Amino acid sequence: MSSGIRFDRVTVVYGGTTVLDSLDLTVEPGEVMALLGPSGSGKTTALRAVAGFVRPAAGRVFIGDRDVTGLPPHRRGIGMVVQQYALFPHMRVEDNVAFGLKAQKVPRGEIRDRVEAALEMTGMAAYARRHPRELSGGQQQRVAIARALAIRPGVLLLDEPLSALDARLRSGMLTELARLHRELPDVSILYVTHDQVEALTLADRIAVMDKARLQDVGTARELYREPRTEFTASFVGNANLLPVTVGTDGVDFAGTGLTVPTDDAARGTTATLCVRPHLVGLGAGPNALTGSVAEVQWRGATHRLYIEVAGHRVMADLRELRQPPALGDKITVHFAPEDAVLLRAGVTAQETTVSAVGVSRDG
Ligand code: ADP
Repeated sequence: MSSGIRFDRVTVVYGGTTVLDSLDLTVEPGEVMALLGPSGSGKTTALRAVAGFVRPAAGRVFIGDRDVTGLPPHRRGIGMVVQQYALFPHMRVEDNVAFGLKAQKVPRGEIRDRVEAALEMTGMAAYARRHPRELSGGQQQRVAIARALAIRPGVLLLDEPLSALDARLRSGMLTELARLHRELPDVSILYVTHDQVEALTLADRIAVMDKARLQDVGTARELYREPRTEFTASFVGNANLLPVTVGTDGVDFAGTGLTVPTDDAARGTTATLCVRPHLVGLGAGPNALTGSVAEVQWRGATHRLYIEVAGHRVMADLRELRQPPALGDKITVHFAPEDAVLLRAGVTAQETTVSAVGVSRDG
């Protein structure tokens, strides 16, 4: 079965509203790509366009090197798992898993083997004779995954598969999904989620969506260390986003000069400086900022301080402090030049490929 997915300028319109705007994205064979974004950003629509449940107004969808844009869902060779399991309640587990194979007219003996293998792989072999109502939510979701895998798809589409489960089950299932992917290294997985932990845990790369558009795409580390847009910076992890004016060797933030990497083209423009809160340190140093403590939150291993600097709140995540400051205390924090990323205002990934001036480094 061919693997890999390619969106080629895929646009979907509902009742005159563009809900997916010219999406260009490639999922490599064997890759797990997360579609991450807030509710309503077009993630499910993108996935349904691959499944064949949504007809694009423009653009093409490829699975492997096959243009599947005009093909009905059952001829696309995909497995799909949605949030609400969607098992047939009147059928036993084994018949649920066999369903797609029967539809494909796979010979009986082979159906039995494949159902067994799929249930084995998802740890559900002992439940083959049960009905869905006799299973927990997590078990039902395993059956749904077994059913999707039984057809041996080249592409597996997962739409918020864990969001109906409670937090503990969710974390266990995340580990399971990671294991499944290791056992099926050739299957491409498109994983829709609004949960950054799921995306960071499972995905080889993350495509960040907002307002019907692709905002950014990269590995978790790339998006975290070098976000290209303000949206990515604030959606993937936490970020201080400081309004600055770009100078020669740095920027001006509310009258304070800060040394950060810049490029000549940006000189004189306004931009946003992204600094991750855990890279802000206490006390004097390079790029020092002084302000008064507006809020102190104890988070177990860390303290999160909100510091009012020239009308802006700067967040600092510091390893648990023996003596945290009191509200109103005047304190100084700082950050290293290489820990800041300059973002040009109002830029999305589809408009330019070089919008950030950053320094890549391991750490
Ligand atoms: P997400 O998965 O990111 O939450 P969706 O792709 O489900 O977002 O939806 C994107 C937008 O399209 C939303 O504004 C949603 O209301 C709208 N939408 C989704 N499905 C339909 C539909 N069948 N008819 C009309 N509008 C829809």
